[in-house]
Formats: sequence, C-alpha cells, structure tokens
Amino acid sequence: MNDKSIESLLHEQRKFPPSDEFISAARLQPSAAEALYAEAAADHEAFWGRLAQQEIHWETPFTDILDASDAPNYRWFTDGHLNVSYNCLDIHLAERGDKAAIIFEGEGGDQRRLTYRELTDAVSQFANALQAQGVSAGDRVVIYMPMVPETVIAMQACARIGAIHSVVFGGFSASSLRDRIIDAGAKLLITADGGFRGGHVIELKAAADEALAEGCDTIETVIVLNRADCGVSMQDGRDIWWSDAIGGHTAICEPVAVDAEHPLFLLYTSGSTGKPKGIQHSSGGYLLNAKLSSQWIFDLHDDDIFWCTADVGWVTGHSYVAYGPLAAGATILMYEGAPTVPDGGRFWSICQRHGVTIFYTAPTAIRALMKFGDDIPAQYDLSKLRLLGTVGEPINPEAWMWYHEVIGGQRCPIVDTWWQTETGAIMISPLPGTTPTKPGSCTKALPGIDVDIVDEAGEPVTSPNEGGYIVIKKPWPSMLRTIWGDNDRYIETYWEKFQNRYYVAGDSAHRDTDGYIWMMGRIDDVLNVSGHRLGTMEVESALVAHDRVVESAVVGFPHDVKGEGIFAYVVLRGERPSGDEEPALVAELRGWVGQEIGAIAKPDQIRFTENLPKTRSGKIMRRLLRTIARGDEITQDTSTLENEAILDQLRGKG
Ligand code: ATP
Ligand code: MG
Repeated sequence: MNDKSIESLLHEQRKFPPSDEFISAARLQPSAAEALYAEAAADHEAFWGRLAQQEIHWETPFTDILDASDAPNYRWFTDGHLNVSYNCLDIHLAERGDKAAIIFEGEGGDQRRLTYRELTDAVSQFANALQAQGVSAGDRVVIYMPMVPETVIAMQACARIGAIHSVVFGGFSASSLRDRIIDAGAKLLITADGGFRGGHVIELKAAADEALAEGCDTIETVIVLNRADCGVSMQDGRDIWWSDAIGGHTAICEPVAVDAEHPLFLLYTSGSTGKPKGIQHSSGGYLLNAKLSSQWIFDLHDDDIFWCTADVGWVTGHSYVAYGPLAAGATILMYEGAPTVPDGGRFWSICQRHGVTIFYTAPTAIRALMKFGDDIPAQYDLSKLRLLGTVGEPINPEAWMWYHEVIGGQRCPIVDTWWQTETGAIMISPLPGTTPTKPGSCTKALPGIDVDIVDEAGEPVTSPNEGGYIVIKKPWPSMLRTIWGDNDRYIETYWEKFQNRYYVAGDSAHRDTDGYIWMMGRIDDVLNVSGHRLGTMEVESALVAHDRVVESAVVGFPHDVKGEGIFAYVVLRGERPSGDEEPALVAELRGWVGQEIGAIAKPDQIRFTENLPKTRSGKIMRRLLRTIARGDEITQDTSTLENEAILDQLRGKG
C-alpha cells in the first residue's frame, strides 16, 4: 500500500442477493444487465447513442453523439432537438392519460391526485401564463416553493417553453435565495405565501420579499401560489397570484423544441464544502440518464407507486421526482411535510395508506426514524413495499440492516445510490434484480458509467481496501456542463487534479475483493493519523454500531504526536451522560472502535451532543465541526442550522 493512499479498516461481510421472486419480475433481467455492460464496454458512444434514440422523442434526430472538441466541456447529441416536458407528459397521454402521475399529501392531511392528462393540462396552462409574463427560452426562473404539485408543474412548465429553472429549497433563508437569484440573473420568481412543515407555516413570500429588497434587479415578476392562506403583502406591478396568472389561459401549449444542449436547469449545490456552485444541466443528456436510471434502478412497473422523499430543492427531487419517473410514466408520491408530524410513524402511515411500493430516502432520515424504535413501523402494514433506496451520504451498516429488516421485512432489495448534483443521475448503484447487496456498499457503476478509484498520481488503486479518489473516466450524457458564469471554476474543481483526463468527484472510496465500491467520505475530510490516511465514514460507522450511539461525526484536529487526532461528536440514544458516567462511556467507546476497526482509529476526543449540525439537505456540516474541534473562530454561515443552540454543546459548553 503506498503511503499516500487511504486505508480501509472496516470489513463488512454480509451479502444479500435479490430473491427469486424479485428477479423473476425484474424489469432489467440479469442477462439484459450483462448485455448492457458488454455493449457499453464495446462502444461507449454507440451505446449512449442507441439509448438516446430509443428512450427520447426527438423533434429533430441527432446525428452527432458526443462532441469532445472543447473537452472537458463535453456536448451530447448536439444537433438534436427535443422538448423535455413533452417527453415526460404528452408522450404518455395515449396509453396512460388517466393514470395517476402525482399523488399528493399535505402535512395537514389534505390529498390530491393528478392524472397524466390533468398534469399535462396544468403544465400547459402555467406555461402559457409564463409566456404571458414575458418569459421565453433561455430566461432564468427561480422557484422557491413548498413540496406541492405546483412546484413540479412550474418546473415542467419552464421546460415546456425552454426557460431555465433554478429551484431554491424552501428551507433556505432570504439571503441564500437572494444570492442565487442574483447569480442566475433570474427574470421571474415563483413562490407561495407559505408551506406547512413541522407543524408550522413556513412563510416563503415574506422571505422572498426580504430577498428581493436588495440587489435582485433582474426580477420583473413574482408569481405567488396561495397554499397556506397566511396573508401576505403583494407589491403592485410585480406580484401576481398564481390563480390570476393562469386565468384566461388555455390548457394547450405547444412544447418548444430546444437543442439537446440547451440548459434545462441550474441547481446550486448545498454548499457543505464551500460557496454554492450553480451546476448547469442540459436537456437531452440529462433526461436520458434520469429516465434510464429510474427504470434500471427503481424497477418501475406500471402499477408501482414510487415515493422519493427528497425535496425538489435538491437534485434528487429533480431527477427522481420531477423528471425521471415521469419520463418513465410512473406514479409518484409527493409529501409536503416533516417525517415526524404528527409522530415518527408518518412515513410508514403514508406508505400504508397509499400503497407505496418503492421507497427512496436519505440515511439521515433512516437514522432519525430508527431512533423512535421498532414499535412504530410495526404498527403499519408495509407489505406493499418491494424495493428500498438510499442516497445522500454513506449509509452505515447498522442503519442499512434496520432498513432491511424493520422496513423491508427482509424481502426488499436496497439500492444504495451514489451520485451528485453534478452527475445529474445515479452513477453507482446495485441493479435490484441482479446485484447482491452488501450493507454499506453502493456496489458497482451503472452500464456506460466508467468509474474508477485512483491514487494521487491518477493511477488506479489495485489492492483491495486501498482507498483513493473516485473518478469518472469517460463523459456521460447527464454530466454537468459547466458552473453557471464560471467555467474556470468548473475546470478547476472537477478536472484539473488529473490534467483534465477524468472527472474528479471529490469523494474517497475503495473496492473490495468482489469489486464492490465502498464510499469513505469526502476527500477534504480525510484524516491523517500518524501517517495513516483514514476516511471519516468508517470511524463513524464503527461508533454507530455501538448500542448506545445513534449518530456520529468524526473530524481531525491538530495533534502534537500523531499529526492529526480524531475528534468524534456522538449523539446517544436517550440522555447525554453526566458526572462519572461520561469518562466511563468515552473509554468504552474508544475501546469499542479499537475493537471494531483497530487501535489507530480510536478517537482521541469524544464529545456528546444532542444533535449534529446539518445542512438543510440533512448532511453533516463537518467543516463547521472541524472549526470547533480546532478551537477556531466560526466563520461558516450557520443560519441554515436547524437548531443554533447546539453550537454551545458542540463547543463543550452546553
Ligand atoms: P457541496 O458540493 O456544495 O458540498 P453536496 O456535495 O452535499 O454539496 P450533493 O450533490 O447533494 O451536494 O451531494 C453529493 C455528495 O453526497 C457526494 O459527493 C457524496 O459525498 C454524498 N453521497 C451521495 N450519495 C451517496 C451514497 N450513496 N453514498 C455515499 N455518499 C453519498
Ligand atoms: Mg458536492
């Protein structure tokens, strides 16, 4: 093992093949999966070209599959023309016009159902309204909305007329919204008076007004949906109610055909590792991977009810709520509120009542729901579930096993899907009817996705359990095209590390002897303890495997002897320890980690806290924790913290 590589110390042995029953009904049979891998390996470009022809309705067919003349600014299917909304909606009308496209449940229990025909009409009518407000192809539209059907309608309506949307998560503050509006140079903002979350009304229009009060000169119009009836002020000449905006418009709107490379949307990354970047996605290539991955990984059949719990403010809500499953003709479920209203059984109650068959969520949600105990899910009938998925962070084997046993009744394959805002669609994941899963591994790259793990020199790491950089060696259709307004940053961030040869994801990973990929955390978070480079994920997983630990986050801090020491923040089941109990538990946990993965990984310091600081998308803010562990002054934006009071606990003062 070379001294620059990252060591893996965690060894998970359990393996779960899909059941015969699952395999026999799988949309992608093992033999077909094998054929796809072989086809992609034989001719990467021809593979994507064939699928693009097969899966997408082109207004003008493309002749050029991949244009690499400006690499690493790759272009796909450049001379083809299409409309994304047509491909998600109109295309289904003949066969599935009366099938539910969206089943919606509000936090308060209100429900709606929109068929494909109704959704197409609503999108067309709203697209007409946007045009009437002067929006045309290429204009940017910012969407700052709760998780309601109108949000998907707004996105699809932009796609229908070629406007570029940028969805800003409704949990973001006015200043985050303002930064994104300014960076995108948006012409129109779509928002709601408020939305329901956690038993409260989130006042979106008020936040939007605050954002617009300064510097957002490009905004001409604000369309406001009345969702919460919470009373807002409307600015004359700028603000218009959604219902008035669509008034008088027909439900017929000819889809505008755009170039395959025309930007479909901008989405700002969550900023957990720095200033948000406006990730720019294309129309043709993006749609292709979003649709195919929905079909391959979520095994969508005509009678499935697919629930991806992600907010549309995140890329997951773009690819697996607003676009992929609709392109695949599926029924999606949308839920507006928090998983804990009225209690920790809400998700399971929704699954039971709506007959959800495929459920896709984040490890942070799984751990949070696990905290409530097994009795709560046991009260619900979860027998319709047949496939489970996770995304957003590495899932520790303990949480995986709970998901598998308590939620999936040991019968549902779990697809642990690795991808990023930048990749547009899932890159690494089990194929549920084909790939035996291992708790904590996202298994293998999808057909046509050329993933490798390389060392500092860009050479593939060869020995199992040696970690390195995750790279993607060949361009793929849904890759980001650039960072909006900053192509230099695009090249610097994703390509320069290995001389523009590979896309560099910024995560570390290793491969086991079966070739399975295990994510180890972000490269920026790698610890260097006495010359050993360790990922954060494994130490965290070992801690969580202890009975009393629910969640943990591990960061490095300067250490006189070892170079870097390990600082672990730990959330316990129940109360934080007091008095003598604390040092005793610290000693026990250190011993435990030593036993689970080795003495080198024993945390030097452990601090108990009631919560971990997370971004609004539920990711642990390790940069903030590092600052605190080092005793440095906090310079990060902490306004997105759910609970600012925990800062004192994290500092050891609460
Ligand atoms: P920023 O780039 O601004 O820091 P972010 O990386 O949190 O934001 P996303 O694009 O939503 O924003 O997240 C992608 C990252 O999430 C990946 O790079 C990886 O670190 C993590 N991730 C996503 N899915 C998985 C998974 N299945 N296993 C492990 N890590 C995952
Ligand atoms: Mg990222």
